[in-house]
Amino acid sequence: MPAPEPERLDHFIARANAAYYATSDPFADFTTAPEICQGFGECLGLWAAVAWDQAGRPPRPILAEAGPGRGTLMADARRAIRAVAPDFAAALALHLIETSPRLRAAQASALGEGAAWHDALATLPPGPIFLLANEFLDALPIRQFVRRGAGWTERHVRGGRWEEHPAADPPATPAATPAAEGTVVECSEAATAFTAALARRIATQGGAALVIDYAAETPNPAGSLQALRAGAPADPLAAPGEADLTAHVDFPALAATASAAGAAAFGPIPQGRLLARLGLPARIDRLAAGLPAPRAAVLRAGARRLLAPERMGVLFKALALCHPASPPPPGFEPGYAPGYAP
Ligand code: SAH
Repeated sequence: MPAPEPERLDHFIARANAAYYATSDPFADFTTAPEICQGFGECLGLWAAVAWDQAGRPPRPILAEAGPGRGTLMADARRAIRAVAPDFAAALALHLIETSPRLRAAQASALGEGAAWHDALATLPPGPIFLLANEFLDALPIRQFVRRGAGWTERHVRGGRWEEHPAADPPATPAATPAAEGTVVECSEAATAFTAALARRIATQGGAALVIDYAAETPNPAGSLQALRAGAPADPLAAPGEADLTAHVDFPALAATASAAGAAAFGPIPQGRLLARLGLPARIDRLAAGLPAPRAAVLRAGARRLLAPERMGVLFKALALCHPASPPPPGFEPGYAPGYAP
C-alpha cells in the first residue's frame, strides 16, 4: 500500500473525532459534569434564565446548547427552568448543535419533542441566544507548532506517527519571550471561529453564553493533546476514531477573540467558584434532605467532585459572553465573596 499523505494535525483530529462520536459511546470512556450531578445542569439552566431576565426578557429567546452529549445537561436545565422561570420556559425555543447522529438520537430520547438540531451555529435562526456548552470546545481540532532553531515546524500525522513540516503560518508568540527549543504551541481555529461567530451574534442580536471546559493555568510546553480509549489514556495517533481526542482550551485567547468581535467577556473563573456562587451547595442540601441516606451520599459526593479544587473545581473553567450593555452575568459579579472560593 502506498504511504498516505501527511495529514495536518487539526485535519486528523477532525476526522478522528467525527468517527469517534459517530460510532462510540463516549460516556463509556469518560464522564462529564452533568452526568456526575444533576445540580450542574440545573444551575446552568437557571443561569440562562437570569441572563434572559438581565437582557430585558426579549421575546422569542433561543435556548441553545453546543455538544449536548446525552442530553442530560439540557434535561436538567429545562426541568429547573420550568420550575423556577416559567416565563422563560414558555417563551424559549430549544436549539441543539450536534454533529453525531448517534448522540442526536440520545438527546432526542432525553428531551422528547420540541428541539431542533443543527450541525453548526451558523444555521440557528436569528434572535437573542442563550447558549450553554460543557466540554464542547475541547473536542474541536487544534494545530500544534514546534519551536525548532529560530523557526517553527507544524505537526502532521502519517501512518500513525508524527511528522514535522516547516510551518507555513507560524504562531504569533510574543517576541519578548522567545520559545525554548521543542516548545509546542497550540491553536484551535475551530474554537476561535465558533467563539467569534457566537460573540458577533450576541453583540448584534443579544443574548449570553456560558462555556465550561478544562484548561490549565499555564500552557504545557509539551502540548495538551490527549486521547482516552476504552477509559484509559492512549496514543492519540494509534487508532483514529476509537479514542476521544481532546485538548485544553485557551480561554484568555477566546475571551480576547470575543471582545474583538464586540461581546463583553467575563472570566475565565474556576468552575467550583461559579457553581458555588450559583447556589449549588444549597441546592444539593435541599435535595439531599428529601432522599434516603445512601442516595443523599451519592448526590453529595457528585457535587463535591464538581466543586472541590483538587477534583474538577479548578481544572475546569467558565467563560461568559454577554451583550456589551449587559451587567455581569450570575456568578461573574466582581468582588462577590462566595462561601466556597477555590
Ligand atoms: N456536553 C456534554 C458532552 C460532551 S462530549 C457533556 O457535558 O456531557 C462533546 C460533545 O460535542 C458531543 O456531543 C459531540 O458529539 C459534540 N461535538 C464534538 N465535535 C463537534 C462539532 N464539531 N460540532 C458539533 N458537535 C460536536
